[in-house]
Amino acid sequence: MKSRTPVTAQLGKTVRILNAFFLSVVFVVFTTSPAVSAITPKGGSKTAVAPYVVILDPGHGGSDTGAVGVWQMQSSAQNSAQSSSNSTRKQRLVEKEVVLDLARRVQIELENEAFAKALGRPIRIVLTRESDGFVSLDQRAFIARQAKADLFVSLHANAETTGSVRGFEIYYLDNSSKESYSHHETLHQRRKKIGKPKHKDSKLALLLRSIATDSTLNHSKLAAKTLQKSILNEIRDDGYTVKDRGIRRALLQVLLDAETPGVLIEALYLSHPQDRKLIQHPQARNSIASGIAKGILKYLILSE
Ligand SMILES: [Zn+2]
Repeated sequence: MKSRTPVTAQLGKTVRILNAFFLSVVFVVFTTSPAVSAITPKGGSKTAVAPYVVILDPGHGGSDTGAVGVWQMQSSAQNSAQSSSNSTRKQRLVEKEVVLDLARRVQIELENEAFAKALGRPIRIVLTRESDGFVSLDQRAFIARQAKADLFVSLHANAETTGSVRGFEIYYLDNSSKESYSHHETLHQRRKKIGKPKHKDSKLALLLRSIATDSTLNHSKLAAKTLQKSILNEIRDDGYTVKDRGIRRALLQVLLDAETPGVLIEALYLSHPQDRKLIQHPQARNSIASGIAKGILKYLILSE
C-alpha cells in the first residue's frame, strides 16, 4: 500500500470524521434532479447553491458487451438412471452488466445526504446510460458537456487471454507521453474488434484537440490519484484482497471530448478467477462503489 501524503492523510481523517458524524444523523432523502438546490445558511434565508455535477459513465451497452469473462463451472447432475455424473457448465460475466450495476451502486452512495453536507453543496449525478442500450462515445461526451460536469468517471472492467492478470487500473487523459499514445492504439484496436463506433480521428487531430483540455490535466491527475487510493483503501479495509495496477495516462476519446476533468476506471479483470469472485460478490461490489464515491467526494473537496 502506498504511503499517504500529509494533506491527503489529513483530508482522509477529516472525511472519516464527517462521515461518522453525518451518517449518524437521520437520513433525509436527497433528490438529484433539480439543477439548483436551496441550502439554508445559519442566518436563516435560503441561498441558491449550484450543485456539483458528477457524470457516471458505465462503459459499453447494447450490442457492445465490452470485456467478457468466460469460465467452466463443475456441476453434478442426476441422470435418468438415478446415478450422479459431473458435467461442466460455461459461465459468462459481461462488462456492460457489471459496470452498469456498479454505477448504480456508486449513485446510491453519492446520494447520501452526508456527502452533500460534507461538501456544503448538493451533488447532481448523471448516468450516461441507465439501461442496456448502446450509447456512442460522442453521446457520452455530449452528456458531460451539456451538464457542465465537474467530474467525469467512466466505469469499465477488464479482461485478457492468459487469465493471470488482475487488479485495478485508473486512466486519466494526458497527451504528453508515449504511454498515452500506446494506450490510444490499444483502445482503437479494441474498438475495431467491436466494430463500432467508428472513429476517424488521427493522432494529430487528437493531439490538437487535447491542447484545449490541458487545463483539466492537473485536475484529472488529482482525481485519478484520489480515486485509486480511496478504492483500494475501502476494499482492503473491508477485508478483500486486490492488486493495485496503478495510475496510467492515456489519450481516451471519451475523456477528451467530455471537456472536463475525468478518469476511466478499469475495475478488476473478469478473466482472473479471484478478481471475478470479488466483482461477483455483492458486498465486495458495494465496497468498490463506496471507495469510488468517497474518492469523488475527496476529489471535489481538494479541487476547490
Ligand atoms: Zn470497457
